[in-house]
Amino acid sequence: MNKKQIQEALNDKIVKELTQRNLILVNQVKELTALLKKDINKSYPSYLKTKHWKRIRNKVLKRDKFKCKECNNRKSLQIHHLTYEHLFNEENHLEDLITLCSKCHKNKHHEP
Ligand SMILES: [Zn+2]
Ligand SMILES: [Zn+2]
Repeated sequence: MNKKQIQEALNDKIVKELTQRNLILVNQVKELTALLKKDINKSYPSYLKTKHWKRIRNKVLKRDKFKCKECNNRKSLQIHHLTYEHLFNEENHLEDLITLCSKCHKNKHHEP
């Protein structure tokens, strides 16, 4: 093998190794994301019972004047997350949350 061939073989080897390592990392991230999702699903109901959430909830209700943003209903109001990007840190992202009545809220989650 000449120098160039050795270089190419080395490059090949490096690329292969990097690809394999990346695949392992991608799989690890996938696994972690799945675990995190499971964890969030488990902690979400209890999160909604915390004082922290209740304080956020009250702020959003006040901001939306205790009315459903869709139909102006004042009964059985709930808070809907437009995005879960700041889950557990909504306090600094109140724009992620809107007030909906239970009916409109249900519709939101059943929209395709
Ligand atoms: Zn409504
Ligand atoms: Zn919702």
